[in-house]
Amino acid sequence: MFFHKKRIDHNMKHFDLVIVGSGPAGFSAAVRGVDFGMKVCLIEGSHLGGAGIMNGALTSKTMYELSLDYSIAARVDRGYRASGLSVDYKKVLNTVMQAAKEKQYQMRSQIETFARSKDLKGGITLMQGMASFINNRSMRVVSDEKEEVVTGTNFLIATGSKPREYPGLEVDGQRIIDSNGVLALKQFPERILIIGSGIIGCEFATIFSNFKQTEVHLLDRSNRVLPYEDDDVSDYVADNLAINGVTIHHTAQLRTVKKHPGHLEVILDYDDGHSKVLEVDVALISIGRVSHLESLQPQNAGLQPTERGTLTINDNCQVMINGKPSHIYAAGDVSGHSQLYSVAELQGRKAVEKMVGKAGYPLDYSHMSTLMFFKPEVAAVGANEKSLQKQGIPYRAAIIPTNSSTGPLPCAAPPALSKYWSATTTPNAFWACGPQARKPLPTSCLWRTSSIRATVCAKYSRFSIHTQAFQKAYRSV
Ligand SMILES: Cc1cc2nc3c(=O)[nH]c(=O)nc-3n(C[C@H](O)[C@H](O)[C@H](O)COP(=O)(O)OP(=O)(O)OC[C@H]3O[C@@H](n4cnc5c(N)ncnc54)[C@H](O)[C@@H]3O)c2cc1C
Repeated sequence: MFFHKKRIDHNMKHFDLVIVGSGPAGFSAAVRGVDFGMKVCLIEGSHLGGAGIMNGALTSKTMYELSLDYSIAARVDRGYRASGLSVDYKKVLNTVMQAAKEKQYQMRSQIETFARSKDLKGGITLMQGMASFINNRSMRVVSDEKEEVVTGTNFLIATGSKPREYPGLEVDGQRIIDSNGVLALKQFPERILIIGSGIIGCEFATIFSNFKQTEVHLLDRSNRVLPYEDDDVSDYVADNLAINGVTIHHTAQLRTVKKHPGHLEVILDYDDGHSKVLEVDVALISIGRVSHLESLQPQNAGLQPTERGTLTINDNCQVMINGKPSHIYAAGDVSGHSQLYSVAELQGRKAVEKMVGKAGYPLDYSHMSTLMFFKPEVAAVGANEKSLQKQGIPYRAAIIPTNSSTGPLPCAAPPALSKYWSATTTPNAFWACGPQARKPLPTSCLWRTSSIRATVCAKYSRFSIHTQAFQKAYRSV
């Protein structure tokens, strides 16, 4: 038998900043590091770009856009009728992979540019391999070929997250999958059960139902999808999923998934006592994501993850060791804040700015915007009503369950719902569900700053209905 022996590189390399993970948090930090002339080592154990690209934000959004195009082309109620419309899963995946590769090539080009530039003081060295702490100043990086040790003045942990496992249900990558397995499917499943009705579950339900090749079942343990959202938003999303052909199994618990040669047999138990047996071809587990930390051996650097497996950071993204901010920083999903691309990027940049003494203002997570890619979409800036109520913050809302909004009419789409609120102790917020819901988002970000008066905002907004609603909410505080 032949054993491949790993080459051990004994030349220790020192960097100003060692980053583990090349997702949105790690990559934005690396580029920001170069801005400040830092010598950066970016370590990646798998796909360049992390879940920001592969098996995550970019690939799922590409699938979403393709599915939306298909569903529009398939409509027969708008005065056009496409003939001979067909779709091939493999070709859809080729398009998705092409988009992912293009983004990775852009990133690689940036890295190569920074690696070679003579006029720059710093630069980025990309290392492929899994990193783990030896102690709080050095790391081991292991790839198939070799093992290296790097040391750093500063470290940034940007190792992201991975799909949460469903106890007792093993992912086989073919018939029982998680979000990482969607790109490995060989064809459109005839029937799919999506286990979990959070954002990612509802997005995949939207995608598969848009393509109209799959009978889609969505398992919702509670009595409403997106349980953290306001009830009207969640009802709006559930109603539109149903219109799109998704069967939502509210208040249902998964008892078993039994594998048969040609199908999966699923038993669901409902809160009212009855049970149902379903036959599907694929089960997609989508019950949230957990941080990706164990491979890093954080204990060797004296780091203590929380019970949720995340790292506690301060407003400048420094990991606290024995209650004190350290030279080890964390950003992105691993930090336990909202699992969003934009949050990860923001934190990555903020961490580097702190390292060079240019942190400026601390991060304010109440300002985050979010977009949920359903049909129609949901867009938001700031806190929702449920969280204001939970915190006991008084607020006044202007709610437009509207047919009068200009959004849905030209799209010949279902009515939209827009909500705005002003609170005395928090900045203003905006939520919209409907076709093109994301369009007023930039103006709404401006509205968040209470110093910008509604009348001024009106000047910037093409959406008079939104402006009026905002003015109403603003005046009522
Ligand atoms: C299906 C899906 C859809 C999504 N859609 C959206 C969306 O529409 N909008 C949005 O804002 N967000 C979306 N997200 C979330 C978004 O992708 C994440 O919030 C974001 O990618 C987090 O970035 P990150 O840098 O923290 O980690 P990641 O992107 O997870 O990257 C972490 C990287 O670290 C690497 N790594 C981990 N451990 C090690 C180690 N020990 N050594 C070396 N490398 C290591 C991993 O291989 C990975 O590449 C989606 C996620 C998924 C899964």
